[in-house]
Amino acid sequence: MPLTTFTGAKPLIYSLTQDEMKEWLVSAGDKAFRAQQIFDWLYVKRVSSFEEMSNLSKELREKLADTFRMEPLKEITHQESQDGTIKFLFQLVDGHAIETVIMRHNYGNSICVTTQVGCRIGCTFCASTLGGLKRNLDAGEIVSQVLTAQRRLDAEGERVSHVVVMGIGEPFENFESLMAFLSVINDNRGLNIGARHITVSTSGIVPKIYEFAERGGQVNLAISLHAPNTELRSQLMPINRGFPLAKLMEACHHYINKTGRRISFEYGLFGGKNDQPEHAEELAELIGDMLCHVNLIPVNYVPERDYVRTPRNEIFQFKRILEEKGINVTIRREQGSDIAAACGQLRAQHAKETVG
Ligand code: SAH
Repeated sequence: MPLTTFTGAKPLIYSLTQDEMKEWLVSAGDKAFRAQQIFDWLYVKRVSSFEEMSNLSKELREKLADTFRMEPLKEITHQESQDGTIKFLFQLVDGHAIETVIMRHNYGNSICVTTQVGCRIGCTFCASTLGGLKRNLDAGEIVSQVLTAQRRLDAEGERVSHVVVMGIGEPFENFESLMAFLSVINDNRGLNIGARHITVSTSGIVPKIYEFAERGGQVNLAISLHAPNTELRSQLMPINRGFPLAKLMEACHHYINKTGRRISFEYGLFGGKNDQPEHAEELAELIGDMLCHVNLIPVNYVPERDYVRTPRNEIFQFKRILEEKGINVTIRREQGSDIAAACGQLRAQHAKETVG
């Protein structure tokens, strides 16, 4: 059975790209150019009802309200870290809970969005996959996360400058909603978030990497690599049994050749499993002189998982080995470590509390 989004309510207006909005307007007997006006109301003025769209006719506003919904995401709770990171738990219209995070950087404010309710990829270190997959989000539910974060930042006179699709879920399993979402937030009549300021991360759904090479434009691609050889990767990430490392690397080479864009490899350091000097050597061998960047992620503690942290000095040693081979590498700065900021943790806590 194909994965479905929630269809029990009118579609969210935020799901429509500007082109889709134009098509709808024409089919409703109105003018295509009004799509720009509607985008301006939704994403620049950020109104919360169709009635407020005062340069549209009353008839059009009623038609919009009959066809679409635009209610905001309902906040269940949020946690704020001392470093300014805010993690929200939102409730969707059918009762499911999702997470969104605002992170503060010296270069701007970055929002981490969720693309699915849960996840079925089954990575052995990850909290998001613990309860399996419930459903895909539709594009508007992903857009709403950015819009809600922007509303929160409005109070501080700040804007969302960057978006990372690194929340709960595997974005490439929800590909069409992802593409519509990217189009909406990138639209220069709307939130106008530059494609080069957006990063999509995948666990390695190989065919979709080929598709993203065609359709991803200037949006950055990150790959959750986590292992330098296929045996170890299969142990950590069962997805590697379906899409083995060699095929993944082939797809990455294709992406780089096709787009001329640098890939980001995420490499979580899981104590004793994949964080030894020989793993660094093997990783350097694997990626060679690819146009890429390696982001080392110190493991986020997940109570249900027994992974342990790599000592600080060993993380630096791992980094140095890669650097000596000429590889561009950074260690992910930890944010919100005093709150449940690792993917899926707040949602998992909430599920436990509500189940009892
Ligand atoms: N499903 C997508 C998007 C998630 S991005 C993907 O797999 O790429 C979030 C990143 O954090 C991924 O690289 C993921 O593998 C990593 N991650 C998940 N759980 C983690 C943990 N406990 N410690 C460190 N990194 C983790």
